[in-house]
Formats: sequence, structure tokens, C-alpha cells
Amino acid sequence: MKQLQLIVSLSLLSLTLCEAWNDTVPDWERNGYDAVLANLLINQTTLTKITLIEYIEMMSTLRNIQQDKLQLPNRPEPDIATLISESITSEPDQLPYLFQGDIILTRDQMKAVIEFAHEDLANSTSTRRKRGGLTSELSLRWTKFPILYTINTGSGVDANAVQAGINLWQKLTCISFQRLRSGSGDFIEFFKGTGCYSNIGSVGGRQTISIGRGCNSPAIVAHEIGHSLGFWHEQSRFDRDNYIKVLSQNIKDGMEGQFGMEGQRDFQANGYPYDLGSVMHYGRTAFSSDDGDTIETIDKNYMGTIGQRVALSFYDVKNINTAYCNNRCSTKLPCQHNGYTDPKNCNVCRCSEPFGGTLCEKAASTSSSCGTIDLTAKPQYQTISMSGTGNCNWVITAIPNRKIFIQMDKFGFDEQNTCEYDYIEIRYGPDIANTGARMCSSPPRGPIRSSTNKAVIMFRGQGGRFSLRFRQGTFSAVQKIHQMSWRRSHNPPGQQKLLCQQPRNLRQKLAAGALGPAGRIVRKHVARAAANTATVLVQAVGQTITVRDN
Ligand SMILES: [Zn+2]
Repeated sequence: MKQLQLIVSLSLLSLTLCEAWNDTVPDWERNGYDAVLANLLINQTTLTKITLIEYIEMMSTLRNIQQDKLQLPNRPEPDIATLISESITSEPDQLPYLFQGDIILTRDQMKAVIEFAHEDLANSTSTRRKRGGLTSELSLRWTKFPILYTINTGSGVDANAVQAGINLWQKLTCISFQRLRSGSGDFIEFFKGTGCYSNIGSVGGRQTISIGRGCNSPAIVAHEIGHSLGFWHEQSRFDRDNYIKVLSQNIKDGMEGQFGMEGQRDFQANGYPYDLGSVMHYGRTAFSSDDGDTIETIDKNYMGTIGQRVALSFYDVKNINTAYCNNRCSTKLPCQHNGYTDPKNCNVCRCSEPFGGTLCEKAASTSSSCGTIDLTAKPQYQTISMSGTGNCNWVITAIPNRKIFIQMDKFGFDEQNTCEYDYIEIRYGPDIANTGARMCSSPPRGPIRSSTNKAVIMFRGQGGRFSLRFRQGTFSAVQKIHQMSWRRSHNPPGQQKLLCQQPRNLRQKLAAGALGPAGRIVRKHVARAAANTATVLVQAVGQTITVRDN
């Protein structure tokens, strides 16, 4: 790496006609490295030769730390010039010299990241410090609105794409933007650089977002703006190991430093779930050596969910609205299904996509051809099928504490790496508002069992088709456990308690996975016998289960 850094340094210095190095005739000149590197600085206002060199040094440090953590010793030294030239033509948001491919950190952020990476490596076998997806450094949050921006049209940037990306955020959050002819104070300048990249948060004064070649889709622009609003990448969240696995053997040489994690920051300590459908999440082949997967979702049904660059997800938007707009509405509505009072209109709830109604209480209607969209699961199977072009949302509800079983019978959609236009999405996890498993290339692996008594089916058809059956689960494991586990105490009337009769049996059942891999009782609350119920909080499903004393 030393030699490569030198090559970069030489060429950058020569670009600025630094005489100290002029008498050297380095290899890069013969190999065309100068052209590649000069290209990096076209229209460049954020990166200088110094910061670019610093970045390459930092990425080298991160790569070494990450190689140790991924236990990948002795991989060949990367040819940075080849890496750069390949990346800027095919993967403009995966630049090897930028943090996680498209982020420019301030010097302080860089130091913190390297410090944390060292710490993370040291602690990798013990409990990890936690973090969220957004920065907690308050100075890095925007405080004045509208956020001012300029578009450097002279650089050739696609002004329509920039505007479309801004509109995605402006339409769904309270954040407003205002275009200026020339900037002053704190503002963003959009320009056409090499690749797509941004700072994290508001760094003060003029900061740039590069919308280079290949970065012109509205959601890619919105992704870069997301960084400038304070978002890190979803797959570097502290809890990512519960949802994805990094397949280190498929990472391209030299890109090993791109899969680090950061510590928890309290900006996003909103308790929001990890979102595999976030616009800030990498796709399955990010930084891959040969298009082999580098990211595998733990639940493989979600492989088609990660990496979407079509829209902001429900939690992308909710996160920003909570961070920036939480005080907009003095009265909060009792929105259901994790909807929340819309900061742009305090009289309505902002719902996750499949939900509608004033309080997100029912399925969002799209077309009458979808048939009945609010469905009740029964012991007998019912069928849902659809084909062609169009959108349908079905919300399936079972009685409390019962699960829903779903069996796919027919399945055919246009094959895509990330399911973005022709797919079925099934939501069966603990949070029904969160992006579900989007499937287009292959059907679900086996029957699906919901985490709660709700499931959602979303058809986003462009010619695809499916048919599935669903039914209510039989007596749920949770209920069985508690029937055996609780009895009324022998205290005098009015002072009776419910007692745990067979706690060992309960523990054994939980250990056997009756509540799923993460299921465990986190707190037992024993009620007084005026009521014949007790409550148990079960972490795996995040809900309170009422136990009847029969
Ligand atoms: Zn990014």
C-alpha cells in the first residue's frame, strides 16, 4: 500500500505543479494513473490533494483493521489505480478511496471511525458498543431551514436528477430546501464529480454532493442527501450482525475496509428497527470481486430487499421526521401499525406503505381488482392470487397470540438482483411497518410463519404472478407454554397472585426455540388476583402477552 500511496501522492502533487517531485518520472505516468487520478479532482471542491491522500491512508488503515477482524490475512496488495478506474466506470457509489464508498468524513469523524474500528477489533469477541444510524454530534445536524443549496450547472451535473432527489425528501419530511444562485453561509453545492458522494451531516460552510456519471436516479441522489442529513449506511449499524452476514471471501481485494461498523450514536436511538429496505442499505454484491454476494441476509427471503434505489423507506422517512420534525405537531394522533402524526399535516397519520385510513388502521386501497384487502385468518386455508400489472396490499390479522402461516403455491416474477419493480413483498416480522421480504427471483424458502398475529402481502406487479394460501396457526406455542406455567396462589381472596408453576419447563421450551431464535422472557410481572391475568414481556416479539389463569 505504501507504494500505491506514493503513486497517488506523486500524481496529485504533479497536478498542482509541485516542483519538489517534478524530477521524478514515476510509473504512473506510463500506466495512465495520472489520468485516472486527475479525473478524481475534476470540479472537485471538497477533496483536495491533501484530503484525498489522507483518505487513501485512512482507508488503508481501515482495510488492515478490517482484514484482521474478518480474519483474512495475507491478501494481495490492491492496485489502487485499477480499483479506482474500475469503480468510477461501473460502481460510482463504491469508490475505494472514500469511506464506505461514498462518504467524505471530516478529520474528526475520520479519527473517531479509526478509533472505533480499533476498539471494535479489540472487542470483537465481547459485547460491542452500540450505535444507531445517524450522527449524534449535534453540530452536524442542520439547524436552519430551508437548507440552502446551489447546483453547479457548469460542472455538467444533471439538475433535474438533483431536484428529483430533493423532492423525495421534501415531499415526505418537514425538511425544506431552497435553491440559491450563489451560496453563502452553510449550504450544499451539487456538482458533477467522479462518482456519487457526500459528507455526513452539516459540516459548516460550503459542502458538496457529487452527482457524477451513473448517479442520476432520484433515489441515488436522495441517498447522498441522506448522508448530508446525518445518515450513515444501514449495514454499518451496530446491530447489523443480527440481520446480515458479510461474506468476506467475495470482497474485492482492497475493499475490505468498506464493511466496518460504527458505535451507537444517540441521534437514532429512537428504537427503530434495522431496515433491510432502507435506501441507505447496500445491495448483495456491494464491493464484490466477481459479482458473488458480499452481503447475505440472515433470513434469506430478504435477499431481494437489500440495495433498493427506488424510494425512501418508511423508516428512512420516520427517522428524519423524528430527528428534525418531532415538535411540529402539539397533539399526537393514536396512529396504528407504527404510523405517526404527519409533521406536514398534523390532522393525519403518516402510515407505512401498505396501511391506510386516518389512523393507519387498515390496508391501503389501490384498486378494486385486489378484492377484499383486510382479511382475517381462520383455521382453514384461504387463497390470495394476482397477476399482471398493478399494486395490491392485503393485511391479514389473526386473533391475538396466534400466528399466521403462509404457503406459496405459484410464483413467477421478472428476475432481479434487488426486487425493484416486479415482485411480491411479504411482511411477517415483529414490526409490520418495516420493509418485508421482497421476492422476485425465487419464492420463499419453505412456508412462512409470522412473528405476530399480523402479516402483510404486497403485490407490485409488472407482469408477474403468484398464488398463496394462508391460515391461522393452531394453538400457539406461547399460549401452550403459559397454560402449563401459571397457577393462582393460595393467598386470601383479594391478595391472590398468579404464580409461575413450572418455570423450568418454561425455560426449556424457550431454549427449544418455541419463540424463535431470539425468544426469551425479559420481565415477568405477576398481577394481584383481583384480575386473573398476568403479563409476560417477550422480547422476541416485542409485545405483551396476557396469560389467563385457567
Ligand atoms: Zn452512501
